[in-house]
Amino acid sequence: MPRRFCTSFTSEMIPENPYLLLTPGPLSTTKGVRASMLQDWCTWDHEYNQIVQEIRSELVTLASKTNQYTSVLMQGSGTFSMEAALGTMMPRDESLLLVLSNGAYGERMVRIAEYMGIDVIKQTELEMQTFCLEDLEQILQVNPAIRAVSVAHCETTTGILNPIEAIGRIVKQYNKLFIVDAMSSFGGIPIDMDALEIDVLISSANKCIQGVPGFGFIIFKKELIKQCQGNARSLSLDAYDQWEVMEKNEGKWRFTSPTHVVRAFGEALYELQLEGGIAMRHARYVENQQCLVKGMEALGFTCVVKQSLQSPIITSFYSPLSNAYDFQTFYDRLKESGFVIYPGKVSCIDSFRIGTIGDVYPKDITNLLEAIKEAMFW
Ligand SMILES: *Cc1c(COP(=O)(O)O)cnc(C)c1O
Repeated sequence: MPRRFCTSFTSEMIPENPYLLLTPGPLSTTKGVRASMLQDWCTWDHEYNQIVQEIRSELVTLASKTNQYTSVLMQGSGTFSMEAALGTMMPRDESLLLVLSNGAYGERMVRIAEYMGIDVIKQTELEMQTFCLEDLEQILQVNPAIRAVSVAHCETTTGILNPIEAIGRIVKQYNKLFIVDAMSSFGGIPIDMDALEIDVLISSANKCIQGVPGFGFIIFKKELIKQCQGNARSLSLDAYDQWEVMEKNEGKWRFTSPTHVVRAFGEALYELQLEGGIAMRHARYVENQQCLVKGMEALGFTCVVKQSLQSPIITSFYSPLSNAYDFQTFYDRLKESGFVIYPGKVSCIDSFRIGTIGDVYPKDITNLLEAIKEAMFW
C-alpha cells in the first residue's frame, strides 16, 4: 500500500507553478509531489531502501494480479530503462529483435538495438496508422530467429494507441517474448500484464504516475529476468545486476540513486491511490482529451489521428494552413497565458501536440481553449 511522503509542508509553503505543462512529460505535478523533495535523505539508509521496496512492489501490483512479475528501478530518463531492458533481455547470440515502429519511439528502439549490437528487424507503418497484423504474422513465420517483439503502446509521436492486445496474441501464438514500451501510458491506461501476456514493460517516473524525471522502471517476469545474467552490453544499464542487488539487499541501488525523485514518486503513487487508482486516472485523462478535441474542432483545428486510434495521453493537431501562422508565436502567446504546449513530431506533417496528462483537469482544458481562442493571430 502506498503511503504519504510529504507531511511537514503546508500548501501555502509550496510555490505555484508558473504555467501548466501540457506535454507528455515532464508534466505538471501536485504540490504534494513537489513538497516531498524539499529535504535531503540518505541513500543507503534502511528507511530509504524500504521506500524503494514499497515502490517496486506497488508497481507490480498496478500491473498484475498474480505474483509472476517483479520490477527494477533504473537511473536516467525513460530511454535509459528502454536500453537497459533491451540490452538485458536479448542474449548475446544470433537471436533477433523485431520492433514494430510507427513513430519516433519505435525508431528509437531500433537505434538502441543497433548501438548495442543486437540483430534487429522492423515492421514499419505510417505514423497515423497502426500495424497490419497479417504482416506481423508473416514476419514471424519467415524469421524463426526472432526472440522478442517490441512495440510502443502509446506512440507519443502522434498520440496513437497501438493495439497491444491483438499484437500480443500473435506474438504469443509464435511463442516470442513480448516487450511493451508503456512509457507514456502506464499509470494512465489500465494494463493487465497477465491478460496481455506481456513479458517486459518499461515506463518512467515522469509520465502518467505523475512523478518528476530522474528514473525509469522495468516490470518483467521473474522467470525471465533470472535467465538474463551476463546479457547486458553496459555495466550501468545492466537490468539483471540492478535487479539482483535490489532483491538481495532489499532496496539498494548499485550506484547513486535519485533520492528526491524516488520520494516524489512514492508520494505520486500515494496520490494515484487517492484518486482511485489507474481506472479513475484514465477516466480523467479521457475527459480531458475529449474536452480538448471538442473545443479544438470548434475552433477549426483537425486531429492527425482518427478518434478510434487516439489515446487520451497526447493529441496531435494539424498546424493551421494560413501563412501567417507560426508555432513559436502561438507557443509564446499561450505560455504568457499560463499554458505550455508541445511541438509536433510527425515526420511528414506540420503539426503541434497538446498533452492531457499530469495534474490537469477538465476545467484547465476549458481555460486552455479560451486562451487558444485569444492566441489565434492568423
Ligand atoms: C517519453 C517516452 C520515452 C522515453 O523518453 P525519455 O525522453 O528518455 O524519457 C520512450 N517511449 C515513449 C513512447 C515515450 O513517450
